[in-house]
Amino acid sequence: MNNLTIKQFHQGLIDKKFKVKEVISEYFKKIEKEDKKIKAYLSLRKEKAEKEAEEADRYLENNFDFVKENFLFGLPLAVKDNFLIKGEKTTAASKILENYISSYDATVINKLKEKKVIFLGKTNMDEFAMGSSTENSAFFVTHNPHNLELVPGGSSGGSAAAVASDMALAALGSDTGGSIRQPASFCGVVGLKPTYGAVSRFGLIAMASSLDQIGPIAKTVEDAEILFEAIKGEDPLDLTAVKQNISRQWPNIGGNNLPVIGLPTDFFEGVDKEVENSIKEVVAELKEKGVKFKEISLPSLKYALPCYYIIMPAEASSNLTRYDGIRYGKNEKIENQSIKLNWKDYIKETRTEGFGEEVKRRILLGTFVLSHGYYDAYYLKASKVRNLMKKEFKKIFEEVDLILTPSSPTLPFKIGERIKDPLSMYLSDIFTVPANLAGLPAISIPSKRNKIIGFQLIGKPFKEKTIFEIGKLYEK
Ligand code: GLN
Repeated sequence: MNNLTIKQFHQGLIDKKFKVKEVISEYFKKIEKEDKKIKAYLSLRKEKAEKEAEEADRYLENNFDFVKENFLFGLPLAVKDNFLIKGEKTTAASKILENYISSYDATVINKLKEKKVIFLGKTNMDEFAMGSSTENSAFFVTHNPHNLELVPGGSSGGSAAAVASDMALAALGSDTGGSIRQPASFCGVVGLKPTYGAVSRFGLIAMASSLDQIGPIAKTVEDAEILFEAIKGEDPLDLTAVKQNISRQWPNIGGNNLPVIGLPTDFFEGVDKEVENSIKEVVAELKEKGVKFKEISLPSLKYALPCYYIIMPAEASSNLTRYDGIRYGKNEKIENQSIKLNWKDYIKETRTEGFGEEVKRRILLGTFVLSHGYYDAYYLKASKVRNLMKKEFKKIFEEVDLILTPSSPTLPFKIGERIKDPLSMYLSDIFTVPANLAGLPAISIPSKRNKIIGFQLIGKPFKEKTIFEIGKLYEK
């Protein structure tokens, strides 16, 4: 099971080396043993998953041809707890949704169910995906499997930690400003945030709708690619999920040869020495393998973080209004005590009790930047800067095919180290937010010098293929 890739798992099934049931049971044994320390999972589907595994084994007997073509058949997958799975609890790691049972499947869940993927459980995260360390979960903190004193990154920290510790073969995460790539980097695994619009967000609990994307967390670039291919595509239930024909507008610079990669080195200032050294080695190795590099400059990137921390809370504050205790987030405490409150106080009580500190901070920030008299100064201005950034990326992509940066400016930090200082926490996102603001695909891949330092490749819209190509070349 250790280090098993998706293709090896699939081959093992085809060759009848093991049964789905055996593998799934092994994973639960591993979880039982390891997750006491790591705490990656919020909930497990042990009985259901084992039953599904038995069914899969029976299915395999009679449908060998279907299974042969389907790499994801029986795959043990972990799912971040902000994806809806019908009939199952989805908490987004918030007290306000502690007892919420999903009434439908997210589109990506549906697609994976058709392939007979087996969901092991739901993973821990920062509450409503707001954070970079998984310390904002209302329930407990997840530990980095490589060193239990360190954070696993966030907000998809549970998913990244589960894959890194072989408690799942791969996982789903969501990324609004880096929540797939930064934890992947901290845990030594691969994480892809696809192009905005490549994957349907229907059934994902919304954080900031113009930035959110769903993507895979996996052990190798090829595994991430296989999962991405399975979940991408248009969806009538999410009109931003489109057919991927826009890529034709963005030609390859390298032509039929290897792509050209841009290095915005002026943007790397201030990163940890160890991060800098790892990135240098990655570049040197890729050069040796024939990839061409070009120094580039993206001056607007220095505004990415402030711009993100206006647009994201603005959208999040709006998205979170639905948790009012009436439709979502029923306040059982108040109801059980049959306290009589007017509706305003009921909502106030529910939200005061149900939301954690970071979520409240962002609701306040977001409401402020959208309020009358401040809208132009903050939200509108940030939107203009965002457009500027998009234009700058578009221009640079006439010269290069990909852009390489570190995934995070630092190594994983200690649990407790930054939680009291939101600004230092927000700085973790400096390299990841630009791709969300511009809607571009981006991946984090572990560096060989130090597994828990990832490098990031940002690509042109809908050109995930180029990213995979270079990622696989590096891994080889
Ligand atoms: N760490 C970032 C934040 O706190 C990104 C979160 C995300 O991508 N969901 O907003």
